[in-house]
Amino acid sequence: MSHRTLKTLLIMAAIAALCGRAAADKARVVISGATAEIQAFDERQVTFISFSGLAEVIGGVADWKMVGHEIEYVNDTNRFTFVIGSPFFKRNDSVFNMTYLAEFHDGQLYVPAATFIPFFNQVFPQKISWIKDSRTVRVESEYFNVTDLSVSAKANGLLIEIFLTSALAYDIFVTEGNWINVSIRDGRLNTPRIQSRRDSRYMYNLKTHQQKETGQVSIRLRRRVERWTHKIQEDPPRIQISIPDVNFDLVQVDTSPRIGPDDKIDIVVIDPGHGGSHYGAIGPKGSREKDVALDIAKELAKLIRKDKQFKVIMTRDRDKTVTLQERADAANEAQADLFVSIHANSSVKRHVRGWNVFFLAPAKNDSARAVAQFENSAFFRDKFNENPEMDEDNGGSFDDPILNILNEMIMTEFQAESHDFAMMMDREFRRHVRIPARGVDQAGFYVLNMVFAPSVLVEAGFISNVQEEKLLKQKDYRKKVAQAIYNAIKRFKNKYENQ
Ligand SMILES: [Zn+2]
Repeated sequence: MSHRTLKTLLIMAAIAALCGRAAADKARVVISGATAEIQAFDERQVTFISFSGLAEVIGGVADWKMVGHEIEYVNDTNRFTFVIGSPFFKRNDSVFNMTYLAEFHDGQLYVPAATFIPFFNQVFPQKISWIKDSRTVRVESEYFNVTDLSVSAKANGLLIEIFLTSALAYDIFVTEGNWINVSIRDGRLNTPRIQSRRDSRYMYNLKTHQQKETGQVSIRLRRRVERWTHKIQEDPPRIQISIPDVNFDLVQVDTSPRIGPDDKIDIVVIDPGHGGSHYGAIGPKGSREKDVALDIAKELAKLIRKDKQFKVIMTRDRDKTVTLQERADAANEAQADLFVSIHANSSVKRHVRGWNVFFLAPAKNDSARAVAQFENSAFFRDKFNENPEMDEDNGGSFDDPILNILNEMIMTEFQAESHDFAMMMDREFRRHVRIPARGVDQAGFYVLNMVFAPSVLVEAGFISNVQEEKLLKQKDYRKKVAQAIYNAIKRFKNKYENQ
């Protein structure tokens, strides 16, 4: 907190002390025992608080920017974008819904406290809550005792440090897939701070679990965990875990193929969409997306296998039903370096044509959202079959579950690399595939979300269009699509492997 902010806070606290409960056009902010007032108003029993006022009290404001109807708020780890008159806001690149509309009055941005504060709590480095009855935002900066994480490479291995406010008891257990799990007794995790330490150089994934009596930090490392040592250190108090490097010369004596996390980009997982009882889209002449996808995938596998630098894994190599979860699991078990899902698009408008490449991020437009809904529907079909109480006809409008689930879960870990991979595909498709370019787009695909690797989903043309259905059935066309994808994979390897 800056001195200026602290001074403002103390002055505001003195004023607030005069009244026990905030007036109807005010709300209170209680932070470290001090109280401040911010602007607020009620509309149809919903209290809107000034986020501008709150940000000034809690500090960390780096920048406010207003462009048209958008307002941006940036601090160390977050970039929030609000749209005046819309319930949707963005945190970094993910979209969230706070139910009520963001409003702008007298130069201040107002947000609905009851729905926004619980969300903000998840990303703010201190515990923050809204107490409706006393119109109070409470900030508990001393609440957390597991405050930060650091992962760094040392000459002989990896060093993981978990910072605490005082020595706490802990357990360490390593599980399959090079997960190192640290369970801290009475640990209260500063989840946003710890999550902000994700670093794809060292880890595939980072998870935090806050339970009543323990706080757990789990890291899936990019290197093998065979031995490890740990101790509590002082000044500052921290758990220190050292993971010495595995001697790779010894490992190579092993005759089994080494498919493990390493610095090479050599494991490519090809995912032919649909299959078995999931036909995908059907063309006017009766072609089925599942067959087209498999044929293109086979051409691609052939090309990649010729190039001895890569190992290819297919999520299916024949006409069989594979759930989206099983596809993602297969990729993760193989410790994929790249993941390509292959599909053919479809539209009720028969004249619509062209190829698309998608990467995972919240959809920006209706047509991208529609593609994701169609491709995700297999997941919901599986879920509905597991749960007979859910009626597929009622659940048939997939909009809400997908948005809800994906908004909570969208992985931003490989978003930059996936976007880059998609752009490389775009370049190669424009060169090799002679149908209209619909280019790169983003949407929330379930299968991409579950894969811990840069991944894209290719729609190789519109099976619903007579001309393109014909092309998709031609070996020559499929080979061209495969060539474009293969070239992009090589480009990606060249760019990222030697970084
Ligand atoms: Zn599909």
